[in-house]
Amino acid sequence: MPPATTTATEAHTQRIARCGCRRLKLTVSGEPRRVYLCACSECRRATGSVFAWRAIFPDSAIVAVEGESSVWRRGSDAGRWIEQVFCPGCGGLVFMRAEAMPGAISVSVGSFDDPGFSPPAAIHNRSHQPDWYRLADDVAEG
Ligand SMILES: [Zn+2]
Ligand SMILES: [Zn+2]
Repeated sequence: MPPATTTATEAHTQRIARCGCRRLKLTVSGEPRRVYLCACSECRRATGSVFAWRAIFPDSAIVAVEGESSVWRRGSDAGRWIEQVFCPGCGGLVFMRAEAMPGAISVSVGSFDDPGFSPPAAIHNRSHQPDWYRLADDVAEG
């Protein structure tokens, strides 16, 4: 077996996303494919906040989904489906699937409870962002 490199070790970092009551648990391995913010009205509704902070992981990164979950399917602006996977106990939205994103999930970064998680590379629907909120200049319109 070749000696483990730092890169290989980092690629196998495991993170656990949990809902508010901690019963729905998603374990993923490796680094996210993309980290983004979305300020669209559905994301603001889902989070009650200025935007959603999300990380996309391929299905192959999913180590385990534990606990009961409920799925709510809604439409997107582009007329395709998006499924929000949440805890039926506390309502916490842990991850989503989208018709436009086969083979991957989009995880609510807040569920990782890791303030050091990768910053967003882009924000979608920036025009929905309130005037009082200012993002760092290097977060581009996505
Ligand atoms: Zn819960
Ligand atoms: Zn959105």
